[in-house]
Amino acid sequence: AARETGVALARFTPAMAARYTERLQLAGRVHMAIDRNEFELHFQPIRHAADGSPVALEALLRWPQADGSFIPPGDFIQLCEDTGLIIALGRWVLRSAARAQQQLAAAGWGMLPIAVNVSAVQFFNTDLANEFSRVIEEFGLPRGSLHLELTESSLMRNPGQALQTMQRLHERGIHISLDDFGTGFSSMSYLQHLPLDSLKIDRSFVADVETNPRNAAICRALLSLGHSMGLMVIAEGVETEGQYGWLAAHGCDQVQGYLLGRPMPMADVLVLLATLRSP
Ligand code: C2E
Ligand code: CA
Ligand code: CA
Ligand code: CA
Repeated sequence: AARETGVALARFTPAMAARYTERLQLAGRVHMAIDRNEFELHFQPIRHAADGSPVALEALLRWPQADGSFIPPGDFIQLCEDTGLIIALGRWVLRSAARAQQQLAAAGWGMLPIAVNVSAVQFFNTDLANEFSRVIEEFGLPRGSLHLELTESSLMRNPGQALQTMQRLHERGIHISLDDFGTGFSSMSYLQHLPLDSLKIDRSFVADVETNPRNAAICRALLSLGHSMGLMVIAEGVETEGQYGWLAAHGCDQVQGYLLGRPMPMADVLVLLATLRSP
């Protein structure tokens, strides 16, 4: 046993120790930031490909720092999943999205749903359908005003339980989008059985769709797969007119990306929407 310990210690390098300490400190900071209400939600418009009109907003988590910068979610979501902090953070996101929906409704845009990203840890370790119901009731939101985005890879962790949870969410009027579609290798026979409303084509396939024949072939396949199942197909990461044109010409239903609007605070969303409203 002593020898094993020696081996284990030898493998725990100073670099690993430093990294471990760094992660612990970051987890502590996230915890405090939740308590102090320091996180923010930004919202990115999702638009009809055909005419550019807004269909929904995706809520994206932002962690503002004292110097005016943001720590991107990619830098702390995984840590939050590993430590379980994602449960508390996810609750905060859901309630904040509900509050934002109230603001939208007050400005006359109550018909625009807000899509909330849900991590696999939240999906499999909380009673998500119940949490959504409670928030919808508490904030007095109409049916259908909150959507949920779930990645293909998180579904695959436990397909049976995923199906059950999705059915319960669907009964409560919560639309479900499969996020990062195309990256998780799920089969059509599996997807067919899920109560899904839309598929979001991963940004990596959209990036150079109009010039890269391989990505064009993948996007065509994902569009046809989605449509054959009667689902709405959304392309994410649309940055250029060229990509937008290609997607619209190939029947993509909805588009989202920097070209059509960056993630922004609700105040800016309301300004943008005001310019879109027909006089
Ligand atoms: P995602 O759900 O795939 O979100 C799309 C990401 O693409 C966002 O990055 C968004 O800002 C970015 N994006 C949008 N349009 C463009 C574009 O045209 N070009 C490029 N290059 N990027 C674009 P963000 O906000 O950094 O979020 C990264 C990921 O973090 C999200 O990927 C999502 O998986 C996760 N995330 C964000 N907010 C939440 C949250 O509230 N809860 C959970 N569980 N995860 C979240
Ligand atoms: Ca998403
Ligand atoms: Ca995505
Ligand atoms: Ca993604």
